[in-house]
Amino acid sequence: MFRSSSTYIDTYYAATTRDRQKNRPALTDSLQADVCVVGAGFFGLYCALEMAQAGKKVVVLEASRVGWGASGRNGGQLVQGFACGMDRLKAAMGHDRAKDMFHESLRSITKIRQLIQTHQIDCDLADGHVEVAVLPRRVKDLTDMIEDCSKQWGYDNFQFIDKADLPNYVNSPRYQAGMLDMDAAQIHPLKYILGLADVVEGAGARIFEQTRVTGYTEGADGVTVQLSDGNRVRCDQLVLAANAYVDKVDRKLSSRVLPVGSFIGVTEVLGERVCRELIPRNHAIYDNQFILEYFRTTADHRLLFGGRCTYMGGEPSNVHEAMKGNITRAFPSLAKTKVEYAWGGHIDITMRRMPDWGRRGDRVFWAQGFCGHGIVPTRVAATVVSEAMLGQTDRLDAFAGIINPPFPGGELMGGLSQAIGMTWYRLRDLF
Ligand SMILES: Cc1cc2nc3c(=O)[nH]c(=O)nc-3n(C[C@H](O)[C@H](O)[C@H](O)COP(=O)(O)OP(=O)(O)OC[C@H]3O[C@@H](n4cnc5c(N)ncnc54)[C@H](O)[C@@H]3O)c2cc1C
Repeated sequence: MFRSSSTYIDTYYAATTRDRQKNRPALTDSLQADVCVVGAGFFGLYCALEMAQAGKKVVVLEASRVGWGASGRNGGQLVQGFACGMDRLKAAMGHDRAKDMFHESLRSITKIRQLIQTHQIDCDLADGHVEVAVLPRRVKDLTDMIEDCSKQWGYDNFQFIDKADLPNYVNSPRYQAGMLDMDAAQIHPLKYILGLADVVEGAGARIFEQTRVTGYTEGADGVTVQLSDGNRVRCDQLVLAANAYVDKVDRKLSSRVLPVGSFIGVTEVLGERVCRELIPRNHAIYDNQFILEYFRTTADHRLLFGGRCTYMGGEPSNVHEAMKGNITRAFPSLAKTKVEYAWGGHIDITMRRMPDWGRRGDRVFWAQGFCGHGIVPTRVAATVVSEAMLGQTDRLDAFAGIINPPFPGGELMGGLSQAIGMTWYRLRDLF
């Protein structure tokens, strides 16, 4: 489920895009480019697009298929901000920089919408998102956030939903209140990224699939990227966009991110009437528990539900059953409903859930540490990284002030320490 394969893993998304999936060729030769991007997820493809539009000769090397990683199998919720929260970003880079990044995340949602519209990417885009509180004491977190976003970041578009009104948005006894954001949205992520890849190629970049990078070396006149079959790509600038899988390419970068398993289940078709009973206005939903759950209904009227995390590299023994448990806790009326698809993917967490974006000189650039909230932040990261690649480095360099310590003991011990830490947070979520 997690290790690279030549086909898409068995997801609802893969099953509903069979007619759109293309087999792109592997790179079977050595070649030269201005920019080489490792990984065809959102971040890699957005960087490729920006650099191709700037007139650079760009190649994207993807070990598996376009969108094979987190980008093609996520919950599809497009939400502003960053996983670490704005206060922590402010503490790390100062108020003005953090405010700029918050607004860059809003602009990124607009850019994604424009891309979808301009290129007519049919990807089930639907407006609106509601963050809900499970615990009565966390209702205040929603009202605090509405106030804080208005005062600190100049964003007034959140709207509080009280318990009496909530069934008009989410019809579940589990939730106490909500916060609506009509700027946010949802998409079918694999449909979207397949369309995005076409746009990237249309801008002149070349994408090679089944092409695994094993390492790179920097020299005075450029970077040499090594491929598993012995071929090489020589480039002026390298973008590392391998996310949770970067360990095979750059050990130092990988020590700062821990791949954490995250899971999604999709029910059988429920029909439009049932879907609108559960989520009357068809918004995407997530809760504000520390270990959060998120859900939405699909264009063909199923419930797509995400949650659960594994920190030691494994997965629940029966992902379908595990997700069924989460679904019926939120919607007891679905007790007899079948979970037709269930899968997992890796999210790339950093120790303090802060973004890890940066550069080594003018040649090697990266963005990782999206921590499970990446659809919009990958767009932000690509803007900031590509402007740095073109010489305007101040916004990317602001991220250098963020300290992301390596996980002590690597993946195994890091996973263990995070699992223990998460048990503490899970208990806090429960009581
Ligand atoms: C189950 C799940 C649900 C999620 N839900 C949401 C959500 O609802 N909203 C949200 O905002 N975020 C969500 N996320 C997070 C979001 O999907 C990610 O943050 C984002 O997609 C990361 O994009 P990326 O381009 O950095 O990485 P990826 O999409 O993982 O792309 C990395 C690519 O690099 C390739 N690669 C790796 N190693 C090599 C190599 N050596 N050579 C060549 N290629 C290589 C991989 O095959 C992969 O295609 C979710 C993530 C998961 C796993």
